[in-house]
Amino acid sequence: MAENGGRRRRLVMVPSPLQGHMTPMLQLATYLHSQNFSITIAHSDFNPPDSSNHPHLTFLPLPSNTSGTDISAGFTNFFKTLNNNCKTHLHNHLIQIINAQNNSSDKESVVVIHENLTFFAGTVACDLGLPAILLRGSSAAFFPAFNIIPKLHQDGNFPPPDSLLQEIVPGLYPFRYKDLPFLGRPIDQTLEMVNMLTPKTTLSAFIWNTIEFLEESALTQIRNEYKVPVFTIGPLHKIVTTCSTSFLEEDTSCISWLDKQAPKSVVYVSLGSLANLDEKVAIEVAWGLVNSNQPFLWVVRPGSVRGFEWIEFLPEGLADEMKGRGLIVKWAPQKSVLAHNTVGGFWSHCGWNSTLESVSEGVPMLCQPFDVDQLLNARYLTDVWKMGFEVVVERGEIEGAIKRLLVGEEGEEMRQRAMQMQEKVKVAVSDGDRKMYLKRTGIYISRLFIP
Ligand code: UDP
Repeated sequence: MAENGGRRRRLVMVPSPLQGHMTPMLQLATYLHSQNFSITIAHSDFNPPDSSNHPHLTFLPLPSNTSGTDISAGFTNFFKTLNNNCKTHLHNHLIQIINAQNNSSDKESVVVIHENLTFFAGTVACDLGLPAILLRGSSAAFFPAFNIIPKLHQDGNFPPPDSLLQEIVPGLYPFRYKDLPFLGRPIDQTLEMVNMLTPKTTLSAFIWNTIEFLEESALTQIRNEYKVPVFTIGPLHKIVTTCSTSFLEEDTSCISWLDKQAPKSVVYVSLGSLANLDEKVAIEVAWGLVNSNQPFLWVVRPGSVRGFEWIEFLPEGLADEMKGRGLIVKWAPQKSVLAHNTVGGFWSHCGWNSTLESVSEGVPMLCQPFDVDQLLNARYLTDVWKMGFEVVVERGEIEGAIKRLLVGEEGEEMRQRAMQMQEKVKVAVSDGDRKMYLKRTGIYISRLFIP
């Protein structure tokens, strides 16, 4: 058992209940446990992690009373409710640990690791005088991009007029006004969201699931602004092995289906854990897949096509056309899919985890970003790393885009660039540089504990 001047070192880690945030938190927890920290995952009872997959961690469910609050309809309200309701429970739990320190021989000191969407944990840590660290599962680029919005709004440039959309945002190269987060939402909601995401409590450090060479400029901006250590420890999924962190069951049967396809022939389509499609758009996607004549593996998350439980939106004729050409699943083992040699392209919403996973496997991408950091990530993919292009979801356009990516000369060039990116990631992971970053992070955290 880890000791630090006689006390056990307990990390209380507080993930938000989103798939793309839960995964890096559990990966980091697994690593830190291997470095002799005791870990409590304090999670909301909405979308709880499967504790049986992580027997080395202690789980503390926090009552969030969020049932009935629709996360996709009211993101800000959902997180306000969750933060309000989880705060007292976490506070009481930490007080218990602190009081036990005075009375028992089994003493513990505590450091809190949370996200910006679980800011209640930062407030609780601050109130109790405990050190707090922010873990970020989004791209680093997202931070300066949402930070600049209030100033742009003050100057009359957000929401941007049409004449600015294609322009680079001053100080945010390579990002354009049209890439900024929260476009299309009412401005009061956007400002509320930016306010909610902005850290307000004292932080000891940031930990980012990214790699320095991918996001140098954004990381420099963050370091200049916050003046606390910023550790870049990505891509976590390549450094730390964990059991499944998925909320939904992974349909592993798709791997044996992939085994039967030709090398680099399959387009893998997944829009992550939150994005939803209208029926009409989903039908266009289906026609595009059929007409491309390429084998496809399509993740249709249950409920992700509005108004339907799963794939009942497919008209009979279209459903028949699709048979034998591809596979539709509810949730895939995405990391294994992207690592499979028959997958030739990834049609993605460009969530940061999906982006890192594709870069790590050298898979070129069709980008269909929706919101938050996805448009920024897509800009990296298309204009900086040049390993993908944006897909226009219209009849005729989709099939052309899939062919362009999978069988065209241009697609081959993108694949080459994607493989160069993969090589850089491999070097960073295999020469120990990434592990060293993680180790340094662990050493830094251990110094935060009260002896
Ligand atoms: N994912 C998965 N199976 C699927 C679809 C997605 O395992 O069928 C995982 C994917 O590997 C990634 C996460 O879900 O780790 C999605 O996170 P991301 O940041 O890409 O997007 P979000 O869901 O947050 O929008």
